Amino acid sequence: MRALVVDKPEAGQTARAAFRDFAEAELPEGDVLLRVTHSTVNYKDGLAVTGRAPVVRRFPMVPGIDMVGVVEESAAPAVKPGDHVILNGWGVGETHCGAYAPRARVKADWLVPLPEGIAPAEAAAIGTAGYTAMLCVMALERHGITPDRGPVLVTGAAGGVGSVAIALLSRLGWYVAASTGRPEEQAYLESLGAKEVVPRDRYAGGPARPLGKEVWAAAVDTVGSKTLAGVLAEVRYGGAVAACGLAQGMDLPASVAPFILRGVALLGVDSVMAPRPLRLEAWSRLAKDLDRDALRAMTTTATLDQVPEIAGRILAGQVRGRVVVEIGA
Ligand code: NAP
Repeated sequence: MRALVVDKPEAGQTARAAFRDFAEAELPEGDVLLRVTHSTVNYKDGLAVTGRAPVVRRFPMVPGIDMVGVVEESAAPAVKPGDHVILNGWGVGETHCGAYAPRARVKADWLVPLPEGIAPAEAAAIGTAGYTAMLCVMALERHGITPDRGPVLVTGAAGGVGSVAIALLSRLGWYVAASTGRPEEQAYLESLGAKEVVPRDRYAGGPARPLGKEVWAAAVDTVGSKTLAGVLAEVRYGGAVAACGLAQGMDLPASVAPFILRGVALLGVDSVMAPRPLRLEAWSRLAKDLDRDALRAMTTTATLDQVPEIAGRILAGQVRGRVVVEIGA
């Protein structure tokens, strides 16, 4: 089969993905063989395909962290041939061959059944980015933060996680502010439900003082680094930030002032190793709480051939919303 593959690089070379013939026998072990119908391009896929960061930790590797597909063979009693399934994370596309190939062999325990009412292409459009956005919203809810507490800020707003977070929060009744470095996307962000657009520069340099004005009841941060530090300094007393990303950087040059003087909570969100019950809850919430028109508005469709080019653009912050990759649809 034709696949996008990262082969072990020569010493001193970058591990970049290229198309080549890939035998099914090269697929790793697993109790389920899937026909992959759709995938997506996430920020992490951009890193894996371009080799910009060492997310691929086994070779040869088929990248692609999101898989939507149909079961062809299964040795697991709970999974039957013909089942429509979703797979996000679990190291797929990093340590276990992923979605940028027509077939994948995976573990049954990693699969989530396609929720009723979500079409396969919609599940891909949601993908890791959307399911992570849902985990962020659930983290804020678990902390007891409700829309009546005040406005919520979403950073990296025009990206995948950001776009889905805006749509979800707006549908759930929040006043949503969208922080973006792309002012030209104002109309797009408003169409998803943002009530206000905040320029990225307001936070990109970090906080001017350990504590700023109390503005946000909550935030979903996909950017990390100085931006997250800047946002934390403007969270209201008792508020919380769900942090899931590092588009600006992995560092966090912050002070403890927001935590110890305002009781602000920093809620870490991980999608890759999230336990199955949490995934099932997130996908069932997505089926209920994500506006399908908003999902359509944030989604573009691409072929597998276009993935290397899109990988470069997503790292440059030039991809808007979500990209669905049609594999064997
Ligand atoms: P994406 O579509 O590329 O979105 C990232 C957005 O961040 C960009 O669209 C841009 O938004 C903003 N941005 C990019 N570079 C920036 C910079 N240098 N400074 C400030 N803002 C910048 O990526 P994604 O798939 O949504 O993922 C977003 C982040 O979440 C990534 O870091 C990803 O690794 C992480 N993530 C983590 C998990 C998890 O399990 N924790 C799961 C999924 C994703 P604007 O143009 O609107 O400013």
